[in-house]
Amino acid sequence: MKKSNFAKKASSEDGKNMEWTKEAENKIKKVPFFVRKKVRLRIEEQVAESGKKTVYVDDVNAVRKRFVEKMDSEIKGYQIDTCFGHQGCPNRANTGDRLLKEIESILKKANLLSFLKQNVGKDLKFHHEFRVTISECPNACSQPQIKDIGIIGAIIPVITGKECTFCRLCVQECIDNCIEFKEDKNRPAIDFKRCAKCGKCTAVCPTGTVAVEEKGFRIQLAGKLGRHPRLAQELPGFYTENEVINIVQDCIAFYKQNSKHGQRFSEIFTQSDFNKMAAKAQRHKK
Ligand code: SF4
Ligand code: SF4
Ligand code: SF4
Repeated sequence: MKKSNFAKKASSEDGKNMEWTKEAENKIKKVPFFVRKKVRLRIEEQVAESGKKTVYVDDVNAVRKRFVEKMDSEIKGYQIDTCFGHQGCPNRANTGDRLLKEIESILKKANLLSFLKQNVGKDLKFHHEFRVTISECPNACSQPQIKDIGIIGAIIPVITGKECTFCRLCVQECIDNCIEFKEDKNRPAIDFKRCAKCGKCTAVCPTGTVAVEEKGFRIQLAGKLGRHPRLAQELPGFYTENEVINIVQDCIAFYKQNSKHGQRFSEIFTQSDFNKMAAKAQRHKK
């Protein structure tokens, strides 16, 4: 059988349905791991902008060269990405398409690059950039736990009054073991303290006994890696797209007001700030 010269489908929204030649794939593997994803996305953006659907090794070389020689020109002041849900992942609990567009526009309007240039000056690096990610289910493939703002698509399940046939599909589907038949033997119960809100149980129930109560987003704030890593903390509550947008705007306003020398969001966002943000997030719900 003839071997394909193409290795992989593209991973960016702009580069949907894009092919990578094997040579290009091998070349991208040589880019240092800490900028590889960023270089990859930039290559796909540029190839898509030029109307092409295939990434060749020359495309990789051109962007790689710019990253190595002119890193400053590649710094945007922010980073935003998503998981690969839009490529047909069966676990997708909610779509982040609109959020991706709206949040990127908010990040652009916030002019974070000139803000950072003013605060950090010539030492500005990628690691100063403000980071947002959207994972379209609680599997969290785009690592919301280590981003300034991590948004997670989710579904809250509910047990309805509809008759249960005891097929136990919901029990089998829940990898967190949150569904059991206990006191009420006629229908299952959900342990909401453990439930990650993936919605998988709602998709398999044939009778509608387990159903979708609400589709929305969870939000995690102020995670980072680096010398002093910290996992993001989850805001209590469950949010609509518009509420997520309001919270993102509040976080960026807080960051611009309080980051004076290029500190990351997590370095300035104290527990008391988190509590205030959580209270404000609840007010967005009214
Ligand atoms: S986070 Fe969920 S929806 Fe996104 S790629 Fe991972 S498993 Fe799929
Ligand atoms: S939503 Fe997911 S975690 Fe929660 S009970 Fe259903 S399958 Fe389990
Ligand atoms: S709730 Fe639905 S999926 Fe679960 S056992 Fe009953 S009928 Fe089956």
